[in-house]
Amino acid sequence: MRRVKRLPLGKKAVAYLGRCQKNTNRKAEAGVLDIEKEWKSARKTQTMQAVLKTLQKMMGSRERCMYCLDSHGSDIEHFRPKALHHKRMFRWRNLLLCCTECGRLKGNRFPTDGKRPLLIDPTKEEPWEHLDFIPETGHIKARFDPRINAWSPKGEKTVETLHLDRREALEAGYLKTLRRLSRIIDNFLENPSFSASHLLESLSADDEHGLLGWIFIGTGQHHPPFKDLREQHPLIWEKCMADFSINR
Ligand SMILES: [Zn+2]
Repeated sequence: MRRVKRLPLGKKAVAYLGRCQKNTNRKAEAGVLDIEKEWKSARKTQTMQAVLKTLQKMMGSRERCMYCLDSHGSDIEHFRPKALHHKRMFRWRNLLLCCTECGRLKGNRFPTDGKRPLLIDPTKEEPWEHLDFIPETGHIKARFDPRINAWSPKGEKTVETLHLDRREALEAGYLKTLRRLSRIIDNFLENPSFSASHLLESLSADDEHGLLGWIFIGTGQHHPPFKDLREQHPLIWEKCMADFSINR
């Protein structure tokens, strides 16, 4: 996962979503709302295609799923499931991009602690504050939160809901990205001739799975070769970290 910047929608799409939401609310009040039917008929429109395109654009040229960052993001996902929260069915800020597998796993699941969601919304928060990556296995698991002396509950529920710790294809994908990023750092350590911005640029270009967040914000900085970069080239490290954070 990685932090995703939400782009503004076009005027036409904003107006269309507003109208759809109004209709939905009216039908719900009248007791005649068929959520699936309502969504399916809107989903077919060109305006909703434009909404999907905007979500895909938010993920850059690879158009990856916002939850797993591994497969193609092919569908519009409701962060708060439409079956449970029809009042947010057409709210732009409730719409994410997902792949078939994440969409199937998430379904109508929406864990909460009673009030707040226990599921990471990558458009609203930094996923690696709640998640950890195990470089030996390629698993994603909850991050340990020293403030509460326990694993992040949001991280735990996100991993559980999306099976982030038991999808072989995911592990392989994340490990491949880890190898690429490690190679870039190894090369730099052998021959530290290029600048921090050049280094970060190379790393970003190969970071298909958002692991730079794990390295600069999460616990990746304690693992070699990232740890070696931090210890041997503190200024380069600081600059990369600062530039990485600014671009979030
Ligand atoms: Zn996915």
